[in-house]
Amino acid sequence: MNVLLSIRNLVVDYTTRDGSVRALDGIDLELMAGESLGVVGESGSGKSTLGAAIGRILPEGARRHTGDVMLGNVSVYGSGDTRIRAMRRHDLGFIFQNPMTTLDPTMRIRGQVEQALGGAAGRTEVESLLRKVGLPDVFQVSRSYPHELSGGMAQRVVIAMAIARGPRLLIADEPTASLDASVREQILDLLLSMRAQTGAALIVLSHDLHMVARNCDRVVVMYGGRIVEDGGSKEVFGRPRHPYTSALMRSAPGSEGPDGALEPIAGMPPVLSGRSEFCSFAPRCAHAIELCRTQRPAPQHMDERLVTCLRASELHGKSGRSSLMAEARS
Ligand code: ATP
Ligand code: MG
Repeated sequence: MNVLLSIRNLVVDYTTRDGSVRALDGIDLELMAGESLGVVGESGSGKSTLGAAIGRILPEGARRHTGDVMLGNVSVYGSGDTRIRAMRRHDLGFIFQNPMTTLDPTMRIRGQVEQALGGAAGRTEVESLLRKVGLPDVFQVSRSYPHELSGGMAQRVVIAMAIARGPRLLIADEPTASLDASVREQILDLLLSMRAQTGAALIVLSHDLHMVARNCDRVVVMYGGRIVEDGGSKEVFGRPRHPYTSALMRSAPGSEGPDGALEPIAGMPPVLSGRSEFCSFAPRCAHAIELCRTQRPAPQHMDERLVTCLRASELHGKSGRSSLMAEARS
């Protein structure tokens, strides 16, 4: 299979009133054409920043410090604005948590879908795309303004716009988190079936380990702006090798102990002001030794995955009581 996306030593900082915050602390990642990848990690681990950095749509205040992203043969940080705009239009589709942040509130759906299709699309094309994403009464929907649609309908429109030009990569950042529980599963099914129809690769950024286990071939676990574990969903959820992955799994719904309680991860995730010179998880890790507090771990290959832990080969990961293993895709 072909490499679609290649990220090398990507470092991104935010400038805040309190100084600089390092959101991505050296990301290396490769994605094959058509692959489905789930990116998980606690709040603040850098998931959204990673998604935005791939499309060079980082928010104000963010700055890529070093590194590059290659999408196909386009260097995302080495190309001019025209090339990047064309890449976003043709190769990338973004789906964010809240559909209302993607849709223009002042414009009818028809115009927005027309634009996504390339401007020259007619009514038939717009309506056929809206039908494809399961919207009822597409004539009425296309005449509506975003606020006239339910959250689920609006997210269907966003998915339609994201797939309009047959992108090679879909990036979905918590795509169902803002929706009512009753429509979440439908929207997720739609996203997956659209991905299957277009053959696009998919990156889902999410807190929901179960959703990722069920729907993604591969999982990347982020902590403090780094990738701490990267491998097949079956392998990682079946036998996590990084202590953070194990802790995250124990804290996820479905892993309740006999007393019905989950085991939260003690302590707080780090807020880094620059490159981490040691393992950022060490202060919260039950297995940390002195070396973990003084040396920056490098990713190492083991058990068909990459693990960024100095002690990974000594520690034997266990799935414990998690139901995630059974759910994980092979
Ligand atoms: P969540 O699960 O809450 O969506 P996340 O994994 O997507 O979190 P990011 O939003 O990428 O994490 O944040 C990574 C780091 O960058 C955090 O320390 C966060 O506080 C910081 N950060 C994110 N966005 C901004 C911003 N616009 N300005 C300043 N700092 C930011
Ligand atoms: Mg986020």
